[in-house]
Amino acid sequence: MGSEFKLRVEGYGQHWSKICRLYQGRVSVTLRHGVQCWVGHADLDAFYASVEQRDCPEYRDRPVVVGALPGQRGVVAAANYRARRFGIHSAMPIAEAYRRCPDAVYLRPDMARYLRVSRRIFQILRSIAPVVEPVSVDEAYLELTGLEKLLGPPETIGAVIKRRILEETGLTVSVGIGPNRLIAKLGSEYRKPDGLTVVYPDQVPDFLAPMPVANLRGLGRQTRKILSRLRISTIAQLRAMPFSVLERHLGTKAAASFQQQSLGIASAAVAPGRRRKSISKEITFEQDLEAHNLLRATLQRLAADVAATARSEQLCASVVTLKIRFTGFETHTRQRKLPIPTHDERVILREAWALLRSGNLPRRPVRLIGVGISGWKQVEPAWTQPDLFDRPQERERDKRLLETIDKVADRFGKGMLQLGCRTQKPGKRPPP
Ligand SMILES: [Mg+2]
Repeated sequence: MGSEFKLRVEGYGQHWSKICRLYQGRVSVTLRHGVQCWVGHADLDAFYASVEQRDCPEYRDRPVVVGALPGQRGVVAAANYRARRFGIHSAMPIAEAYRRCPDAVYLRPDMARYLRVSRRIFQILRSIAPVVEPVSVDEAYLELTGLEKLLGPPETIGAVIKRRILEETGLTVSVGIGPNRLIAKLGSEYRKPDGLTVVYPDQVPDFLAPMPVANLRGLGRQTRKILSRLRISTIAQLRAMPFSVLERHLGTKAAASFQQQSLGIASAAVAPGRRRKSISKEITFEQDLEAHNLLRATLQRLAADVAATARSEQLCASVVTLKIRFTGFETHTRQRKLPIPTHDERVILREAWALLRSGNLPRRPVRLIGVGISGWKQVEPAWTQPDLFDRPQERERDKRLLETIDKVADRFGKGMLQLGCRTQKPGKRPPP
């Protein structure tokens, strides 16, 4: 077993164990160095508006605008494609949207519901790709390298992603697949909505050539102005410009970045939690709080919350942070490093509580309390790690417990089920 296993590990690199777990029993290929990298980018179409339309059939054939309501101050958070035909787009003032289309359905966002759907979508993505990097609630990069040996060509992988999300959530997603992040992202934008675009390495130059330079990452308005003075509007024109000219106008670093991108050179690294340094949650009390048992109940809720998010993103934290603000706005934070990374809410609660008790903090009424976790470790969670002091049955039980909590949260919303007892709704004073 030894030599063959090693050989395969080399080919699949760091994600071998995850691929094995997802496609158990089906992995029998031998890979070599220099495998073709494939990165996917999945982006739900008009996500908030699509969830509303899915759940409310009478909105099906109508323009739907989610955001502030007409007559309020505020902007459009999401508009479906029918509303976009009127020129309505996200971040547009709601008054302007209303002027363009008074007949649209205007809805306040229901974030709790969107997040529930988002969680389900990420579960599906994680059951297909070994590494999923969330960009936002409805957008993610996927590591697809090596999967073509298991699922078929990139077109098939893209079709699997689209089919599963449609079947299991009723929503359409646009998918782009290419040799790196840039191409994957541009691919998913290429045929929106409900699109699937696969760009093979040899197609990259032609794929990029006619696109506006604004499609490149990190190219802002200022750079666009400079480029338009140089009569550069397409990526092909940017590619053809001598580097020395670009360097003179943009500086070495920017010139190199944009010209590299114009050739389709970009990073293929997909990392979970890459954009997120920490997960934290805090609560401001309606009235400053004194009773310690209520603080504990609040901490428990916060710990459960951050732990569930970490589990859904397959992250394990090695640092727990407690943030506490007292009457008069005096704020303290306390941190503790964990010997074993975790995403178990009981461990996070234990540490946060210990920080509160032993952190040399003033004994004053509390205005705000928060729990944060950080210091991600890409390792197996604590409950799957062999530990001399506990037994395998207990680890298995813990694992099942946490999975059950996540399942219940998925169906009924966060906070429905937590480990340990919860007696008090946080943020509320007890009845007199
Ligand atoms: Mg989207």
